[in-house]
Amino acid sequence: PVSSQTRTIQLLSDTLISQIAAGEVVERPSAVVKELLENAVDAGATQIDIRLENGGIKRIAVSDNGCGIAPDQLQLALTRHATSKIASLNDLENVSTLGFRGEALASIASVAEVTLQSRTSEQPHAWQIRGNDPSKTLTPCSGVKGTAVDVHELYANTPARRKFLKSEQTEYGHCAEIVRRIALARPGIRFTLMHNGKVTAQYQADNLSQRCNQILGEAFSQSLLPVDLAAGEDSDRLSLTGFIGLPTASRTRGDMQYFYVNGRFVRDRLLTHAVRAAYEDVLHGNRYPVYLLYLKLEPSRVDVNVHPAKIEVRFRDSRAIHQFIYHSISRILARPMEPEPETTGE
Ligand code: ADP
Ligand code: MG
Repeated sequence: PVSSQTRTIQLLSDTLISQIAAGEVVERPSAVVKELLENAVDAGATQIDIRLENGGIKRIAVSDNGCGIAPDQLQLALTRHATSKIASLNDLENVSTLGFRGEALASIASVAEVTLQSRTSEQPHAWQIRGNDPSKTLTPCSGVKGTAVDVHELYANTPARRKFLKSEQTEYGHCAEIVRRIALARPGIRFTLMHNGKVTAQYQADNLSQRCNQILGEAFSQSLLPVDLAAGEDSDRLSLTGFIGLPTASRTRGDMQYFYVNGRFVRDRLLTHAVRAAYEDVLHGNRYPVYLLYLKLEPSRVDVNVHPAKIEVRFRDSRAIHQFIYHSISRILARPMEPEPETTGE
C-alpha cells in the first residue's frame, strides 16, 4: 500500500528503531557472538564460555567472570544509547574499549528473547532481567560473579530476516571464526565454545605463540616469522608485533589474515594493501600472504566510529601508517633468518 502519494511523517516507535538498527549491528548469529564477546572482554573477564544451539539461531549463551553489572543498571544495559564506556566527545576520540555505542544489547533484545543475568563482587547473589518483560522486573537468582547473556530464537519476531540465515553449519562456522578472531587477540583469556552440547573449541590462557599454535595449527605456526618493530616516540609511537608467514605458507584465499588495531580485529584496505605491497616481490600469482599482526598507536590517531560493527577504521595519518607497515614487513621478508636489529625488545 506504500505509494509515492503524500503520506504523513511519523516518529518511529522505539521497538522499530531498534529493529532497524539491529539490521546493522546483528545481521546474523556471529554478529551477536561478537558483541557479547566484546562486552565480556571489556568487562575484564579471564574466562568466557560460549554455548550455541543450531548454529546460534536457536540459542547463543555467553557467560563471563568479568566485573558484572549492578542490579540497578541491568535495565539500562538493555536500553539503546546507554553505555558505561564513554561519556563525552573526548572519550569517544580516545576510546580504548571494544564497545562504546551502547546499542548492542538493545538491538539484540529487539530481535530475540534476551535474558541478562549478572552479579558484581558487592552482591550476595545474581539478578536477572528479561529483555521483553514490559515491567522490567528484577529477579534474584543464584550465580557467580560475572555476567551471562542468553539469546533465544534469533529473528523469531522478524521472519523476513530469519529467511536470510544460511544453514546451521554455515552459521556455526561464522560464530567459530569470531571466537578465533577474538581469542587470537586476547591470549590471556580462556575460551570454551560449545555447539549443540559438545565442546568444539577450547583455548587455555596462554602466551601468543601458544595460542597461535592452538588456533592456527602447529605446522602453520612453524612457517611464521616474528614481527616486533616500533617507530616514533610518545604519542607518535607506532608498534607492530605478531607473525607473518613465509611466502611458502601463502594460500589461495585470504582466510588466514588477522590484523588488529589496538586489540580490535579490522578489515581495512589500507592495512591489507600495505602488507600485500610488502609481499609483492616474493609472492607470485594469486597467492595470499598469511599474517597475524597487531598495530598499536594512540587511540586518538584512529577513528573506530565509522562502521556500526566497527570492522572498518580510519587513520588520521594514513600515509605514515602505510609506510610503517610496508617497511616493517619488507625488511623482515628481505632477510627472514637474521636477527632483527630494529627489535624493540618489548
Ligand atoms: P556498549 O558495549 O557499546 O557499551 P552494549 O549494549 O553492548 O553497549 O552494553 C551496554 C552496557 O552494558 C555496557 O556499557 C556495560 O556497562 C554493560 N555490559 C554489557 N555486557 C556486559 C558484560 N558482559 N559485563 C559487564 N557489563 C556489561
Ligand atoms: Mg557492547
